[in-house]
Amino acid sequence: MTVLTGPGLLFVVSGPSGAGKDTLVEGLKARRERLLYSVSATTREPRPGEREGTDYFFLEVEEFRRRLSESAFLEWREYNGHLYGTPRSFIQEKLRDGYDVVLKPEVNGALALKAQFPDAVLIFIVPDKFSYLRSRLEARRTETNEQIAARLEIAHDEFTFVRRFDYLVINEEAQPQQAVDDLEAIVRAERYRIHRYPETRLKELEDS
Ligand code: 5GP
Repeated sequence: MTVLTGPGLLFVVSGPSGAGKDTLVEGLKARRERLLYSVSATTREPRPGEREGTDYFFLEVEEFRRRLSESAFLEWREYNGHLYGTPRSFIQEKLRDGYDVVLKPEVNGALALKAQFPDAVLIFIVPDKFSYLRSRLEARRTETNEQIAARLEIAHDEFTFVRRFDYLVINEEAQPQQAVDDLEAIVRAERYRIHRYPETRLKELEDS
């Protein structure tokens, strides 16, 4: 795995539950070896197939609160009755070492991260029709009807923040690969922005 000389970039992929963040980020990671995924902590129960330390760090509420009191999270949120938080040390270390990091918090978490890392790239994911959120959540069969209704309500609230993001990617039902292509294009392009180049590299080019 290549380590860049400059500090890494932080990619925050957000948007409503059911928009397809998990699948898109999986697809992106498969294509970008150098991109590390920051695993969040949560107090919700694991869903079938979810693995400790890969999908989430599953914590008891007490343990989550203990870590919170030690400032172990860069940001945290209560979402639909459960706590979710972004561990601080992993992101700080990896960015410092020059790795790019991707994570997928809900919208408020994304904005909180932007406040701490103004250079972070915020990407909002939506399905091509808002009504697909319901069908995707229903198809997943991991939430009760009330939980789905709550998530849909949150989704509408979340969309009001879309203008504070840098990019909007529409995850088209009929073409799932297209959204992964779009995400990858964003990740690639961000690296080439002039202000991302260390001054020393620009100078080197000029002097070569
Ligand atoms: P789920 O229970 O479906 O895995 O996640 C529920 C919501 O919490 C999703 O919108 C997900 O993006 C968000 N989430 C997951 N981890 C974090 C985190 O560390 N911080 C915040 N703020 N939201 C998170």
